[in-house]
Amino acid sequence: MRLILLGPPGAGKGTQAQRLVEKHGIPQLSTGDMLRSAVANGTEIGRRAKAIMDAGQLVSDDVVNQIVSDRIDEPDCRKGFILDGFPRTVAQAEALSAMLGAKGQKLDAVIELKVDESALIERMKKRVADTIAAGGTVRADDNADSFAKRLEEYRQKTAPLSAHYKQTGELVTIDGMQDMDAVTHEIEDILAKAD
Ligand code: ADP
Repeated sequence: MRLILLGPPGAGKGTQAQRLVEKHGIPQLSTGDMLRSAVANGTEIGRRAKAIMDAGQLVSDDVVNQIVSDRIDEPDCRKGFILDGFPRTVAQAEALSAMLGAKGQKLDAVIELKVDESALIERMKKRVADTIAAGGTVRADDNADSFAKRLEEYRQKTAPLSAHYKQTGELVTIDGMQDMDAVTHEIEDILAKAD
């Protein structure tokens, strides 16, 4: 099963992706996690991406397209994968479609989590508080300025993906303001129908 989770920062994509990983045994491909790991490892890509990410802006399409294309070729993706945080621009969606076509693969579902924008900043603050309480490290882009920029990037560059995937007939929208279990339930219903 190959699926995309769409939604603004703080919509709950990561939480839902984690549950899908456990239930379906397919990996979560989070471009955010992959880029953060490149930064932590001091790779060439990481060195170039760090300042852009910290400011809440988008890394170039070429860089993330290549990361995803390489990752999809790994053996653990043979049964499928959950894309979280990719595609984030219409150009990335088109690149994804082309790369899957070239690999003889296709998407099973594009699931969008719709969340009131006013709730997002509160969710980010809660994530920061929870991380600190657990003794973890707060993400460099989880601060008011970078978060505002992430939301703006989302509105300008990522929100148009809804119309894109509506046009291809692949989009299903879920109310992301429901509690997490209700969202998980709706996702499972959608996947059962897509099977
Ligand atoms: P969020 O919690 O805001 O959804 P992510 O962890 O998915 O954040 O991504 C963190 C940052 O990594 C983004 O703000 C951006 O700089 C970079 N990034 C992640 N995925 C992409 C992508 N598909 N295209 C461009 N930049 C990306």
